[in-house]
This record gives sequence, C-alpha cells and structure tokens, in this order.
Amino acid sequence: GNITARRSVDAKQSSDNSEERDKINLAEQSLLNKMIRTSLVKNRNQVEVLQRDPNSPLFSVKTFEELRLKPELLQGIYNMGFNRPSRIQESALPMMLAKPPQNLIAQSQSGTGKTAAFALAMLSHVNPANKWPQSLCLAPTFELALQIGQVIEQMAKFYPDVNLAYAVRGNRVNRGVVLEEHIVIGTPGTMLDWCTKYRVIDPKKISVFVLDEADVMIATQGHQDQSIRIHRLLPVECQMLLFSATFEDSVWKFAERVVPDPNIIRLRREEETLDTIKQFYTICTEKEEKFIALCNLYVALTIAQAIVFCQTRKMAMWLASKLNEQGHQVALLSGELTVEQRAAVIKRFRDANEKVLVTTNVCSRGIDVEQVSVVVNFDLPVDLDGNADNETYLHRIGRSGRFGKRGFAVNMVDSDHSMEVLRQIEMHFNRKIMKLDTENLEEME
Ligand code: ADP
Repeated sequence: GNITARRSVDAKQSSDNSEERDKINLAEQSLLNKMIRTSLVKNRNQVEVLQRDPNSPLFSVKTFEELRLKPELLQGIYNMGFNRPSRIQESALPMMLAKPPQNLIAQSQSGTGKTAAFALAMLSHVNPANKWPQSLCLAPTFELALQIGQVIEQMAKFYPDVNLAYAVRGNRVNRGVVLEEHIVIGTPGTMLDWCTKYRVIDPKKISVFVLDEADVMIATQGHQDQSIRIHRLLPVECQMLLFSATFEDSVWKFAERVVPDPNIIRLRREEETLDTIKQFYTICTEKEEKFIALCNLYVALTIAQAIVFCQTRKMAMWLASKLNEQGHQVALLSGELTVEQRAAVIKRFRDANEKVLVTTNVCSRGIDVEQVSVVVNFDLPVDLDGNADNETYLHRIGRSGRFGKRGFAVNMVDSDHSMEVLRQIEMHFNRKIMKLDTENLEEME
C-alpha cells in the first residue's frame, strides 16, 4: 500500500536530509486532520460489508431513531448537529448495537464518522449504575485519546451519569484502587499498566474494547504488542471493535489477532482524477525566474485560492518571504510548526484570510483542495531517486469524484531533469500538459 511506501521514504529522509524535507508523522497528521475537520468527508462510494454470518439479514439504518438509543444519547447526537448516520455509520451502528454484540473491523478514510460511531457504541453499552470501567478504548497518542474523549463527552452531554478516565502517561492512580469511571481511553502502554501493574481496571469486567487508528498504532514500536497483551486479559465475550483509515496487510494481520469472528466494513476512498483540471507547464531557469513567473501569475492565483507546493521546507520559506516582500500576503505551512500552529494556518486559509498558501508536500494533507482552484508546483514532485512521484502529483492536483470543481495546475520546469519528470507525469496519466507563457496568460481562460 501507499502508506508503507511513504513510511519507508520517511525513514530514509530522517537520516538523509531531514532538514530539507518535512517528515510525515502519522499520528500528528491524524491529529491535524481531526483539529481542522469541520464536517463529514464526502464519499459517494458504496460501503462493502462482509458479514461473519452471511445468512443473517444485513441491517442498515437510515435514521438514528431506528437504533432505539437511550433518549439522552439521541439528544446528544442531535445536539452535535448530526441529522442522519454517515455512510459507514449506517452499517456499523446496527452491528455494534446488535444483541448479542458483534465484533467489527471497519476501514474508511478519516472524517467519515468512525469515531462518532464507536463513541456511541461505548456509551450505549455502559451501565452507569456500575461504578467501574466497562469499556476501554486505545489510541496511538495522548492527544488522539483526548480528541476521542471530547467526542464522547459531547455525545454524553445529556447523559451525565457516565464518566471518563484517561489512561495516559502522567495521569496518576492509586495502586489497587479500582477506578469508578465507566469508560477509559488511553494509550496502550499506560492502559496495560493500569490493567496489570496498578490494577485500577479489572479487565474481566470489560464488555467493549475499541482499537482506534490501528494503522497509526502499529506504526509505533511496541503498541501492537501492548494492545495484544491487553486484548488477552479481556473476557472472550467482550466486544472487539477495530478502526483504521487504511488497510494494508500489516493492519489486517493485526486486526485478525485482536478481533475474532469479525464483521468487516469498508468504504473506499473516492478516486481522485485530473479530468476537470487544465494542466500547464512553464519553463524557467532557476528559482528567481520561477519566482518572477509566479508573480506574473499572481492575479490569476488570487481570483480564487491557490496552493503553491515546494519540495523543501527551505524553499517554501524562501518563497513565502519573497512574496511577502512584494506585498503579497501568503500563508506558510511547513513542518517546523507545531500541530496547533499548522491547524491555525489551515483554518485561516480555509476562511480565506489568505488567498495563497505556500507549503511542502506533507503538510498539505488534510487541506480540502475543492476550494482551491489553482495549484502551482513550484517544484515538481519527485521521489528520493528523482523520478516523478505520480501519486503525490495526483494528490496535489486531482479532485475526488467526477463533479469536482474545475481548476488548473501550473508546473514550473527548471531543468532538463524536471522536463523529464514532467514528461513522465504526462505519460503516466495520459493527459496533455500544455505549455504556458506566463507573460501571455490567455491560454488559461
Ligand atoms: P473519523 O473518526 O472517521 O475520522 P469522525 O467521527 O471524527 O470521523 O467524524 C468526522 C466529522 O464528521 C466530525 O466533525 C464529526 O462531528 C462529524 N460527523 C460524524 N458523524 C456525523 C453524522 N452522522 N452527521 C454529521 N456529522 C457527523
């Protein structure tokens, strides 16, 4: 899968030229996505459902009422602004809430409603009168655990008898004194300690076990083993739920170990295409000349919004400050920012406080490109061997779904080598990239 490829590239980068290229940290990326997410991600694909018992009827719900939730929870859901279940929730919720409870493995890209789904399942299954942990949820990092907790708290707004605890590093507990909270969310190491060393959770009394972001989880050394060790402490009838944004073999193997007899739900990401995008290239000799070309394009860029991609952090910084010197207000998104700062930059851009965003590859994920009508590759995307990185090209420029808005892309070619890369991209997608004269922009209309 793609993620594997990217991750191995990362590993190399951190030893080679970590300064030059921004690193992708999966957990941070996921956190960033959550911080900037304002609504469900559109996905018009059909869910694929693989039932453990193929003969049992396939339930799917179109409304939350059909789920016969506690009124307090239904009120909480509506208060969050949810009107109807998302694609993945339509199938996942009836399975998770069925009696007897069913195990589930669910995969869909981030933003499709997984967290909300398992938050509802956890809340539905606890009995507030029993003052001990009944439901555990594992997340890859402290920050991601907090995000999940916030969703549960919002959803339980009208169900105040239910309480949460966070099993994360730094949270102190009294050895042997069992927690009174009903739901515990945490990272695998601390959760394991709380179940074994500190004995503040009796794993035999757990009825729902959730593993969130399994793909991110297994990317962290030790998390997989710790999760499996926790899993072994749980009663066999405990409901096991596993969620992942991607599904490569390693995730699948892990999922099979911790979720026996699963139902499986998948929602494939919508394909990105270049069909609605006009692609151009312009020839320059070096970065100063590319900068001038960009200035010539500037009016066209700011009719709507534009993203300018640079290969390195250094180049992005150079370009942003040159543009600033010219009096252009641009946003700069690059890897040395904290997640909070990055989220703030993206929010400002989304709110159109700035019309142009200068960034490196890895920072741009999670930005909804639908609102961007122009993409400039100040540097063409290449892999570590200098070959065209088609996947990144598509990700930068493509739109999901056939009805994505129209847009155009400008590629800045600054050497024979980058011309070669451009040709590789052209061949790969079998789409013509037209030459653009930045001093005469009529072609773009
Ligand atoms: P995931 O866990 O797959 O990343 P989330 O559960 O975090 O997805 O949901 C993504 C966004 O969509 C959140 O802002 C969430 O509040 C919202 N959301 C989730 N379910 C629904 C729904 N049924 N209707 C409307 N919005 C929803």
